[in-house]
Amino acid sequence: MRNRRAALAAIAGAASLALTLSACGQSSEGGSEDKATDASDATIGISMPTKSSERWIADGDNVVKNLEAKGFKTKLAFGEDEPDQQVSQIENMITQGVDALIVAAIDNKSLNNVLQQAKDADIPVISYDRLILGTENVDYYASFDNEKVGELQGSYIVEKLGLKDGSEKGPFNLELFAGSNDDNNTRYFFQGAMTVLQPYIDEGKLVVKSGQTELTQVTTLRWDGATAQRRMDDILTASYKSGRVDAVLSPYDGISIGIISALKSDGYGSASKPLPVVTGQDAEVASVKSIIAGEQSMTVYKDTRELAKVASNMVDAVLNDKKPETNDTKTYDNGAKVVPAYLLVPVSVDKANYQTVVVDSGYIKESDLK
Ligand code: BGC
Repeated sequence: MRNRRAALAAIAGAASLALTLSACGQSSEGGSEDKATDASDATIGISMPTKSSERWIADGDNVVKNLEAKGFKTKLAFGEDEPDQQVSQIENMITQGVDALIVAAIDNKSLNNVLQQAKDADIPVISYDRLILGTENVDYYASFDNEKVGELQGSYIVEKLGLKDGSEKGPFNLELFAGSNDDNNTRYFFQGAMTVLQPYIDEGKLVVKSGQTELTQVTTLRWDGATAQRRMDDILTASYKSGRVDAVLSPYDGISIGIISALKSDGYGSASKPLPVVTGQDAEVASVKSIIAGEQSMTVYKDTRELAKVASNMVDAVLNDKKPETNDTKTYDNGAKVVPAYLLVPVSVDKANYQTVVVDSGYIKESDLK
């Protein structure tokens, strides 16, 4: 038996069987079948990185909703992008006796000690969206195909600039932005995008006038939009006294909004100086509005409702001594082990399909886009 929660489930299962056998299978909490599932007096600790971005608020809410529907209790905390705060929140959860943890790391390398404490207390850990690195004490990983996210962004740029299929167009000027260097997803997003973009850079069809093409030169600490805006300002001043920016690879909607502000301050956004192609990720309301207004070009939609479901199912399985469903057991090596993962599929969204993909699916309310 893996842990306290499984033991509890077994006890409750036995109790409900006894009740059934004595022909009084009704309990105040429902039939005997339900009882085994919500045997859970188990509490799940959920640690999310920040409330400063909509997606994580939605992730937190959706994980809570899914777990509570399964009969679990939950404790949800947001680390406000401070790694130390996240560590102490998780420590508190362990002290309070949670039965499992779902963690979306702020800094993927700062959790090793606290996850050792979790291990010592026999608490299973699901790494949520962002892989936690350098520790054996991560049981499963629930995320999206992160490399694919980057590929969608890179392909969108190539397609919108009309570079596909050996076209003679170009050269076009491109600038590159990546996410936070302490988030494992950052390199997957960047790698995925560069797989598509690099051949055009090598051919001279795409030119990065700033010269900043290495991941270490283009990261944005904590995915901060204002930091990205300052970097875009600097690039425009230093490298675009002549010529114009035709495309910007941006990994996340909050960063895209910062980049677009810098561009607009530099006079982009008029008929004579249109905004470049700007990518994004997360289908946040502000960015979908920007897409509708013809400013940001695209975003990558990742249905956090589905991710929350996957993570909750993983917890439920692990605590009931079952093997969670995974669909990737090779890609996500965290330096200590390959973490078995379930990866969902990201979707490219622009003005042409936002209605069907994000509104009709109920992810964003139409009224929020007014
Ligand atoms: C997530 C992205 C998100 C970014 C910033 C990444 O780890 O996968 O969906 O845009 O963090 O919050």
